Amino acid sequence: MRDGMTRLETYTSEIEAEIARGRLEALGVQVVLEKDNCGGMRPHLDLQAGVKLFVADGDLEKARDILTATAVATTTGTWTCSGCSEEIDGSYDACWKCGRDRE
Ligand SMILES: [Zn+2]
Repeated sequence: MRDGMTRLETYTSEIEAEIARGRLEALGVQVVLEKDNCGGMRPHLDLQAGVKLFVADGDLEKARDILTATAVATTTGTWTCSGCSEEIDGSYDACWKCGRDRE
């Protein structure tokens, strides 16, 4: 654990983490990314591996707001229905196949 820093999010891909970092840093939030590369030393822990995004404790709330806001702002493109796995166009708020609401 890092002193004075809190893990905000864990990403499964480095790209996602870098995008989040770009957004946060653009708005003045210092970000530290920590990549998990256990190298097979702890095989079953590798299931939890990912890129961890840390922010300073004082920035935590701000950073959360930024990520929440950007998540909403980036709902273009496609999303995958959690009910039937159909790929739905981003302009729809419900699955056209099974009617499930977008989550
Ligand atoms: Zn569906």
